[in-house]
Amino acid sequence: MLVPYHEEMTREALSPHFSPGALEIIIASNSKQDSWGGLIGHDEFHYDANIEKGDRYIIEQRGYVLATLLSPGILGAWIAFGRLLHTAQDFYSHTNYVTLWLDQFDGSPPPPPEIDPLQKDLVKSPDLHSGKIYLPMDALYFIRPLRPLALKLLPKNSHGRMNLDSPEQGPKFDYARAAAVIRTQYEFDLLKKILPPEMFARFTDK
Ligand SMILES: [Zn+2]
Repeated sequence: MLVPYHEEMTREALSPHFSPGALEIIIASNSKQDSWGGLIGHDEFHYDANIEKGDRYIIEQRGYVLATLLSPGILGAWIAFGRLLHTAQDFYSHTNYVTLWLDQFDGSPPPPPEIDPLQKDLVKSPDLHSGKIYLPMDALYFIRPLRPLALKLLPKNSHGRMNLDSPEQGPKFDYARAAAVIRTQYEFDLLKKILPPEMFARFTDK
């Protein structure tokens, strides 16, 4: 998703739970994943091209949150959580999860806030896949005047054709955004469940 949406969604889900300072660090770390250094050669940050690598990256970052909290430090835990959230949120814009979820309802789906972001059979479905990157067309897609041309040349399973990173891509974006907000809340609740209360209090800085 585009950076302003990552920021907006993270605030929406987490503002009540973190100190303002901690939240800003989490958001900055989330947004940094979409800088040039995070876009080139880091498919796993954005669920590009490969589901397993994205899944593994989330598990690793969760591990860094725990490892940091075992030491007196705290900054690393917020940074790792921001990275984790970026990938978890991008799952809904760069895979076909939203399409698979909508396909269950024969054209009359419930409204976006009712999307289940982790429906078990869909997460495990052999039909779930990331957008494949076709160069150079998927790079041309990001040059605005060339986007219509790139879209004509890109196949259906490409990153560009599957992309749901802004409202420009139509009503499916609202589902991707809603799923990402609920997923953000889920990732927070999971840490709340795992962490001992003292560690959790340090993590939320409240
Ligand atoms: Zn991204």
